[in-house]
Amino acid sequence: MIEQARHLLKQIFGYDQFREPQQEVIKTLLSGEDALVVMPTGGGKSLCYQLPALIRPGVAVVVSPLIALMQDQVQALSQWGIAAGYLNSSMDFAMAQEVEHQLRSGELDLLYVAPERLLQPRTLKMLSECQLALFAIDEAHCVSQWGHDFRPEYLQLSYLQDCFPGVPRIALTATADERTREEICERLGLQNARKFIQGFDRPNIRYRIGQKHRAKEQLLKFLKAEHASDSGIVYCLSRKKVEDTAQWLQEQGFNALPYHAGLHAELRRHNQHRFLTEENILMVATVAFGMGIDKPNVRFVAHLDLPKSVEAYYQETGRAGRDGLPADAWMVYGLQDVIFLRQMLESSQADDLHKSIERQKLEAMLGLCEITSCRRQSLLTYFGESQPEPCGNCDTCLEPVPVWDATEAARKALSAVYRCGQRFGVNHIIEVLLGKSSERVLELKHHTLSTFGIGKELDRNQWRSVFRQLVARGYLSVAANSHGVLYLTDSCRPLLKGELPIEMRQDKRKQESFRKRNDP
Ligand code: ADP
Ligand code: ZN
Repeated sequence: MIEQARHLLKQIFGYDQFREPQQEVIKTLLSGEDALVVMPTGGGKSLCYQLPALIRPGVAVVVSPLIALMQDQVQALSQWGIAAGYLNSSMDFAMAQEVEHQLRSGELDLLYVAPERLLQPRTLKMLSECQLALFAIDEAHCVSQWGHDFRPEYLQLSYLQDCFPGVPRIALTATADERTREEICERLGLQNARKFIQGFDRPNIRYRIGQKHRAKEQLLKFLKAEHASDSGIVYCLSRKKVEDTAQWLQEQGFNALPYHAGLHAELRRHNQHRFLTEENILMVATVAFGMGIDKPNVRFVAHLDLPKSVEAYYQETGRAGRDGLPADAWMVYGLQDVIFLRQMLESSQADDLHKSIERQKLEAMLGLCEITSCRRQSLLTYFGESQPEPCGNCDTCLEPVPVWDATEAARKALSAVYRCGQRFGVNHIIEVLLGKSSERVLELKHHTLSTFGIGKELDRNQWRSVFRQLVARGYLSVAANSHGVLYLTDSCRPLLKGELPIEMRQDKRKQESFRKRNDP
């Protein structure tokens, strides 16, 4: 049967050989066993279930959370001559009836369906009357509460094994650390599934994380210097920033389009379609954009705001360079990002367990930003892979980061926070350190503090860098529901006493200037 799969690979998709581990996955499903597939974005997950869908009798049911993309996928499959349909809540009754008719008459090879639709009694009943080739559960990390994209309706997919015993199931995802992987298997009843974990390294992506000064200007410089006529994605945290940035880039002469969940569905579809089909389009988007997007020649992914976790960073940057050619993952971040995310987390309604998970995840992301060694090594370590040598294709490898002994500065910064009563934000603390007799400082009598003016050896930006690194490393924290009020954590004590030396990154003033790719 695997010969048949190879034949179809060539005949239908035009490919000569399988990629790792497609062949083994396909064999597993053809023999009726379950599989868990973890492969990086662009690795070729779809073929793992599409080929068995064609070979095994009956229809393959593909569960996907991405309603917006179902239509594209089905259209693409139809072009290959494959009979595929989809069911989701966005379609009208007549359309749904047509698909149901095809399904009942056994015409379909693949049926894409949103999880909530699949789990409706009506759909389950209909499926129980059909011959089923397999279930494919795409974006399977959505079942994990530990994962960054939890969707409650995914939890109920555990019914599938009870309702349809004997129908092989395959779960697929691009992101799964050890813990998420275990959670997927447990929740979807895949303990006995064969597991295929493919390497996470994306060697053609060059990782760069710089300090944010004037983000838009920095982005513009990066675009002009390196990607003047490429397609790329620019991620922003808020909808408003997406719109502002897109408009600003348009004014600068770029084909920039906005994308976020608040835009009208029609416009979203339109912009996404343009991005997929035209060249030289910049998609300025919130994280609502991108999951499942298959555009091979995205040459860069830029982040104007810090993602909440390394998983999110990896998945978002992973949309660049799916064709294997050089691509950039470019990000700027600053003190405000750290404060903002910390604060959002502390003031969220989540229970303690979730908060502590979120906290660890943010910690890891900040760690990746602040490290002075190879970013790729750190990224791969996070996903449980080791790479013995520095990669030579990230900013820290290409331009080693100078560090400085910040023991004294850290002590001064922390004691200033303490002396001011742990009730102020970074700007005020820096005023005090610099000895600025501003109205506010005088009014609060902070010019009488022992820490007033003890930090004149550094300028405002250098102090911001110190505070950013202290917050990033968890020596300072941000009070919930405050406007960035800093307070000391327990771990800062040895620093405050001067017992623990600390080295910090020396931030480059002009980090955005960067050697071009082919320069010696
Ligand atoms: P994923 O879902 O893992 O992100 P896709 O299934 O969308 O990745 O595949 C990414 C790209 O790789 C697609 O353009 C696909 O056609 C191509 N591809 C998949 N398998 C092979 C193969 N064996 N040989 C060549 N190209 C492949
Ligand atoms: Zn490196």
